[in-house]
Amino acid sequence: MLSLIPQESKSLTGHEYVAVVGAGCHNWQMAILPIRVFPDPILRRKARPIKRVDDAVRRLAADMVETLQNAHGVGLAGPQVGELKRIITIQVPEQDAFTMINPEVTNREGSRQVMEGCLSVPGYSGLVTRSVHINARALDENGGRFKLTAEELLAQAIEHEVDHLNGIMFLDHLIAHEELRKVGASPDEPHWHDVGYTVYAQHAPTLPHDLQMVEVMNTVARLSSMNAESSLSEAEYDLSDGPQEPAVHSHGDN
Ligand SMILES: [Zn+2]
Repeated sequence: MLSLIPQESKSLTGHEYVAVVGAGCHNWQMAILPIRVFPDPILRRKARPIKRVDDAVRRLAADMVETLQNAHGVGLAGPQVGELKRIITIQVPEQDAFTMINPEVTNREGSRQVMEGCLSVPGYSGLVTRSVHINARALDENGGRFKLTAEELLAQAIEHEVDHLNGIMFLDHLIAHEELRKVGASPDEPHWHDVGYTVYAQHAPTLPHDLQMVEVMNTVARLSSMNAESSLSEAEYDLSDGPQEPAVHSHGDN
């Protein structure tokens, strides 16, 4: 998975969501596949060529597109979803997703340094060298041969994904290990603010209505310290330690 920087480091492992395909020639359900995460050994294995482009391959391609779009990625390779097959899907912004089966980069020109991330390495990005311009060839979903020329992000995505088919990760292309960075919050990135809120705890609900007591607790959930890698336990808080003293009012006071 090549993802735009900064990336969201959402791990899909262990979850599967299903979406129904709308009008189309294939009436199957597409699935969002779990994405394998480094150091899963499958990411280091070489994928095998696809001998026949059949419905099973087309279905895998559709699932990979669905998975890629759900993860807001730019590219996805078979091994990243546990399939050691030479298939990649690419989606650069503002363009339709497409699939390349048995893709090969046949020519590379120029070099540039660019920040890159991968959903199989969630939360990190690094500076790598990529080609400025490439030529590539592959089979499409009907088994037909096609060639393309690509530059910039599209060329980078194809190089990154073809690398995955050979067990190579962007980590191997880092210009220096110091260049691997934790993806930090940027002003454009979605982030959380602290949220103050009030908890009304009703005591003695069996008493008549006008004798019921409601305990009012004001507290703050410190969401600003959460990030994409935070665990749920970091969102826990203890009401008895709330920043403000609990106040007790009889029901209906406010
Ligand atoms: Zn990747």
